[in-house]
Amino acid sequence: MSGKELDQTLVLIKPDALKNSLTGYVLSLLSEFHTGLRFAGTKIVHVSKMLAEEHYAEHRGKHFFPPLIEYITGLSHYPDEPIKQRVVAIVYQGIDAVPKIRAIAGPTNPLVAREQKPGCIRSLGTLFPIKDKDGQIIDQRMDNLIHASATDLEAEREIKLWFMPNDIPPYMQGYATKKSERHFYFKDGKLSEDHVPGSFCIVAPGDIVWESDLAILHAIADGTPSKGTLESVVAKYLVNQIR
Ligand code: ATP
Ligand code: MG
Repeated sequence: MSGKELDQTLVLIKPDALKNSLTGYVLSLLSEFHTGLRFAGTKIVHVSKMLAEEHYAEHRGKHFFPPLIEYITGLSHYPDEPIKQRVVAIVYQGIDAVPKIRAIAGPTNPLVAREQKPGCIRSLGTLFPIKDKDGQIIDQRMDNLIHASATDLEAEREIKLWFMPNDIPPYMQGYATKKSERHFYFKDGKLSEDHVPGSFCIVAPGDIVWESDLAILHAIADGTPSKGTLESVVAKYLVNQIR
């Protein structure tokens, strides 16, 4: 909690909220009237495996990681309907954005949410049993309708993961940006400064980039230690691009 006007947080309205037609209700609870927070950015995202795995990187290796990735990519709720596999990603801005939205979201586990905080968003969630091939319940997935950044540091990491600077109006950008002087292309998990057939132009000279992203791109291109993965930079540039 930093108590500043430019405080920001990332909210994801997850596929179960869309499937249950709760989007409008969730947005109402998070409205400026109720929270004092404003929209700084929003987009509809068909979540790639790359973006999902980066977003939930802290959970990599845990038993619930594979079902969590299937959930956030929309595969759990819409296995055969790619047209419906999406989330609504929103940046909210205003004083104490992170704790304000976490409080309205409520506890992670919907059962706990119902017991401890009836009326919070996640009290409307469900626990979905995961069964093995013999029908035995071996795990449960927590379908809890929204994601909300847990700390200011997490919010910064997540907003930079999902949004490019120019997805957010200039006077609402909360983190340092820089103009790139170099070209960067991406293909098959690799970065290059020259275009090769089938590569994706991520950043061109003159583009405004998150300063921390540019440092990562420079470090990877120059073969020096980098403070983040290539995927953590590239994923947002590939949002909604099917290749
Ligand atoms: P989120 O990051 O989605 O806002 P959170 O910060 O309250 O939720 P995390 O610990 O970051 O909770 O977990 C991320 C997501 O992983 C949860 O929203 C939930 O869907 C799932 N999850 C967390 N813990 C478990 C668990 N023990 N079993 C199954 N799923 C879990
Ligand atoms: Mg979390």
